[in-house]
Amino acid sequence: MSAFVVAVDGPAGSGKSSVSKSAARFLGYAYLDTGAAYRAVTWHVLHSGADLASEQSIVAALDSFDYSCATDPDAVVFRVGEVDVTDAIRGDDVTSAVSTVARIPAVRSHVNGVFHRIIATTEKPGIIVEGRDITTVVAPDAPVRVLLTASEEARAARRAAELPAADSGVVSRPRTDDTAAALKARDAADAKVSEFMVAADGVTTLDSTNLSYDETIAALVGLITAGKSHG
Ligand code: C5P
Repeated sequence: MSAFVVAVDGPAGSGKSSVSKSAARFLGYAYLDTGAAYRAVTWHVLHSGADLASEQSIVAALDSFDYSCATDPDAVVFRVGEVDVTDAIRGDDVTSAVSTVARIPAVRSHVNGVFHRIIATTEKPGIIVEGRDITTVVAPDAPVRVLLTASEEARAARRAAELPAADSGVVSRPRTDDTAAALKARDAADAKVSEFMVAADGVTTLDSTNLSYDETIAALVGLITAGKSHG
């Protein structure tokens, strides 16, 4: 039986990671954070001695990129080989380099292959996949496709206040890299690769600017439940 796929895209700081994870937990679904894979490739590039300025060198590093991740929303762990990189991939060094690595087509097709394998083999009844190009490239045929947005001010304020919506958990630490200016710059760089500020055809926009964290989760769960009953 194949899992019911929910595709969620959105800009940095939209809360898509924590909202998607909570919705998956509520529904008993798997949860796939695709940004973590791009961060893990970047971590690998930085730690394998590859030259960040050379596309060729980054692509060569893919040969030794052995990535695995858990899709249980209660136990999200990312590994490169035997190394647990769950915390390391949130570091400033990775965050500031990730857009450079993620724009390389060979990197994108490599991680997309990983995502398709994970989606195809999930044993849960559904999987929420979140990122930048999930509704358009990774899972364009998903029965539920959502663009989670929030105004630039709301996103920056959430990051600054370190609300759960800002990232992956209740416990946050200072994120010097994610000032409003850094978020904006990363979105601008990422937007050259994937369109995630405007919903593609058939994609539902969920604007969380005036919603609380719980209201946003409830709205996403509502869209999924409605999508299931139509499917
Ligand atoms: O979601 P997160 O902020 O962790 O994503 C980190 C980076 O990974 C993004 O800034 C973007 O460069 C890249 N990314 C991407 N496509 C995705 C998910 C993330 O290019 N589907």
